[in-house]
Amino acid sequence: GAERTKNVLILMSDTGGGHRASAEAIRDAFKLEFGDEYRIIVKDVWKEYTGWPLNNMENQYKFMVKHVQLWNVAFHSTSPRWIHSLYLAAIAAFYAKEVEAGLMEYKPDIIISVHPLMQHIPLWVLKWQGLQKKVIFVTVITDLNTCHRTWFHPGVNRLYCPSDEVAKRALLDGLEESQLRVFGLPIRPSFCRAVLSKDDLRVELEMDPVLPAVLLMGGGEGMGPVKKTAKALGETLFDQELSRPIGQLIVICGRNENLANTLKSLEWKIPVKVRGFETQMVKWMGACDCIITKAGPGTITEALIRGLPIILNDYIPGQEKGNVPYVVDNGAGVFTRSPKETARIVAGWFTTKTDELTRMSENALQLAKPDAVFDIVRDIHELACQRGPMASVPYMLASSFSELI
Ligand code: UDP
Repeated sequence: GAERTKNVLILMSDTGGGHRASAEAIRDAFKLEFGDEYRIIVKDVWKEYTGWPLNNMENQYKFMVKHVQLWNVAFHSTSPRWIHSLYLAAIAAFYAKEVEAGLMEYKPDIIISVHPLMQHIPLWVLKWQGLQKKVIFVTVITDLNTCHRTWFHPGVNRLYCPSDEVAKRALLDGLEESQLRVFGLPIRPSFCRAVLSKDDLRVELEMDPVLPAVLLMGGGEGMGPVKKTAKALGETLFDQELSRPIGQLIVICGRNENLANTLKSLEWKIPVKVRGFETQMVKWMGACDCIITKAGPGTITEALIRGLPIILNDYIPGQEKGNVPYVVDNGAGVFTRSPKETARIVAGWFTTKTDELTRMSENALQLAKPDAVFDIVRDIHELACQRGPMASVPYMLASSFSELI
C-alpha cells in the first residue's frame, strides 16, 4: 500500500537561542531530503502541557545564566545520575498526565529530542504506554564538549554527538558504541548550503567594500562584554598616525535592545554598524573576516562553516566551558576576557598578522561539518526504514498511564 506519512515530533525549549535553531535545522533538512514522507512538528511540549517548574524553564534559565554562579551550581550539583534522575522522576510523576497528553496528541512515529532535559520523561511515558519498541527515540546533542549528563540516556535508539569529545563522554556514561553517531551540530540548511560572494554581500549590507571587517556578537540574547569590546575596537582599529581606519566593525546585539540603543548613540572613528536581532546571520558572517563572541555552540559552529577565525570572550559555566578548548586547541581561534586584548588581536590580524588570520580560517574550515544536519536526518530515515513499513503506532491501545500509577 501507499506509504503513510510518518510523524516526527521534535522536542525543544527556548532556553537560549540554540535549541530552537537546531530543531528548525532538522525540520528544514527533513523537508529538503524527504518532502512529504515526514510530517515534522517542533514543540516546546513542556511549556504547553506542564505546569511549573517546567513551563517556566525559559525564564528560569535566563535568570540563572544572568547570575552565572547560580547556573554554575545548578549545572554541577545535578550532574550525578541519581540526583537528576530523582528530580526528573518526581516531575514525571507529578506531570505525567500532561506530558502524556502532549505526546499522544501528535502520535509521533519518531521523537527527536534536542534538549538536555527531554530524554527521561518522554522515554518513561513511552515505556508506560508500551510504545518503546514502536516509536523511534533519538537525541541530538547541541553542546560541543562539556555537556550535561542528562543528555545521555541509555534508552535511546541513537545519540547524535557533535564532536568526538562528546561521544567519549557518552561512552563513559554507559551508552553503547552502536548507539552513537558523530556527524556535527545541526545548522539550518540555508546556512550550510549558501554560496555567497563577500563582495556582493558587502554591497547588499552597505558595508565598506575593502576594509577588513570584524563581527561582534553575544548569542541570541547579546550577552558578554559586547559594549566594552566595541569601544576598544573603535579606538584600536583607528590608525592615529595615518588618521584612517584599519578595519570596520559590525555589532549584532540579538534581542538585547538596551545594548543596541547604547551603542547606536555613540560616536565612532571607524565604520560601525549596530544591529538588533538579525535573521540572516549567514550574510553577516559571509561579509566579515573574523568574529568575536561568547562561546555559544550555534554561533561557533556557524562561524567554522564560514571559515571565520573566532575570538571567544566569555562562556556560560558548564555546558559552554568546553567550547573554549574545542576552538582554541583546534587552532580556529583564541580566548581572552579582556576587551583591550581582543582589540589588539583584531588589529594585528588586520595589519601585520594576516597570515595568522588565514591559517586560523583554514583550521576553522577543517573543523566545520556543514553536512551534519543532512547526515542526521538520513540516519534517522534509515532507522525508520529498518522498522519496515510500520502500521500506525497504536497510540490508542494503552489506557492512560496516569491510571496505572
Ligand atoms: N542569532 C541570530 N540572530 C541574532 C543573534 C543570534 O540568528 O541576531 C543566532 C545565531 O546565529 C545562533 C544562535 O542565534 O544560531 C545563538 O546560539 P548560540 O548557541 O551561539 O548561543 P545562545 O544564544 O543559544 O546562548
